[in-house]
Amino acid sequence: MADLLTLDDLDFDHLEGKRVFVRVDFNVPLSKDQKVVDATRLQEAVPTIRELAGAGAVVILASHLGRPKGQRDPRYTLLPVAEALVPLLGQAVRFASDCVGPEVEALVRDMDPGEIILLENLRFHAEEEKNGPAFADRLAALAEIYVDDAFGAAHRAHASVVGVPERLGSRAAGRLMEREVKALGRLLGEPERPFAALLGGSKIEGKIDTLENLLPRLDLLLLGGGMANTFLAAEGYELGSSLFEPDRLDLARAILARAKEKGTEVLLPLDVVVTDDLDIPGRIETVPADRIPAGMKAVDIGPETRKAFAAAVGRARTLFWNGPLGVFEKPPFDAGTREVAQALAGCPGFSVIGGGETVAVARQAGVVDRIGHVSTGGGASLEFLAGKTLPGVAVLERGR
Ligand code: ADP
Ligand code: MG
Repeated sequence: MADLLTLDDLDFDHLEGKRVFVRVDFNVPLSKDQKVVDATRLQEAVPTIRELAGAGAVVILASHLGRPKGQRDPRYTLLPVAEALVPLLGQAVRFASDCVGPEVEALVRDMDPGEIILLENLRFHAEEEKNGPAFADRLAALAEIYVDDAFGAAHRAHASVVGVPERLGSRAAGRLMEREVKALGRLLGEPERPFAALLGGSKIEGKIDTLENLLPRLDLLLLGGGMANTFLAAEGYELGSSLFEPDRLDLARAILARAKEKGTEVLLPLDVVVTDDLDIPGRIETVPADRIPAGMKAVDIGPETRKAFAAAVGRARTLFWNGPLGVFEKPPFDAGTREVAQALAGCPGFSVIGGGETVAVARQAGVVDRIGHVSTGGGASLEFLAGKTLPGVAVLERGR
């Protein structure tokens, strides 16, 4: 595991008055009247912000929000986020109406030690996502030290993720980033066994690399959701009108063969909940996975499968879960995902969950407190577990 620079590597005796650029992931859902709906991401960044402000640093927070496509767009302003931060931090938070330029530069130079400012949406500038050198120069001009606490953006080589730290001599991972890299790194290191992965979601596509990198390390692979349908089809089952990927059957077969060769036990759905129509269900039935009627779709794992998955979760010493096990947005097809989420509370080992939807379900099931690590990065956690080097992590490694 690469050695990450952390806040402990910064010289805390001399942070007083130093300007620290802190990349955070404040990409939070806003309501129609522009209020922060879920402040979890803000909450997660609080320890790093407090630590830096407490040491007298001038804390300059920068984030993206939504997809404004490189244009100033009032729907994606971070102003409501600045307001929502105040009660969480218990201190004033200033707001800059842009993230670069002479006005912000003057503003941050004028700030007192321990003060906090949030910059306007980085993605109001197209150069952010392109890592444009001139833009990175302007961002870097604001500060002397770089701290990255935006794990959810670490797989993107954007200006605020790689361009700025490359330009500032002093850089470190924030507490959240540090926790993410350690927890996910533990899964790729020497995880306690049995090591189980529970993968769901709509498709294998997008998760192939993660699946392949984890497979040789796993004792148990549990597959649900639309992704499992493709494996069932690969086994020769009739899938009715279920969602599956006909062009991935060979891949699914190859994965099953490799699992067998490595001694990884694979649990596919034994039974499934089927319906004729997701939006206006006329028929809802539970059938064995090899008896899906023509014209019906498999949209959730059935009770036998839930029991088997819960039992597996209950004996795993290390567990990773990404992806819902059914069309959980449309009750009652959320039942399987919820039941397995509840079983997480009984997992005796180190459990990690990733992916916005999976985390939301675990939260609803009230089990997040029993989970070893709740990753804030969906795509970033999958890429990390695929064994890829995340540009935003690599730039924080010691000796770079
Ligand atoms: P993806 O990366 O494929 O989007 P996610 O983990 O985000 O994966 O998948 C979530 C989506 O998968 C949800 O919208 C859910 O409705 C869908 N899904 C899960 N199971 C099924 C299924 N059996 N049939 C169709 N869609 C499914
Ligand atoms: Mg998704």
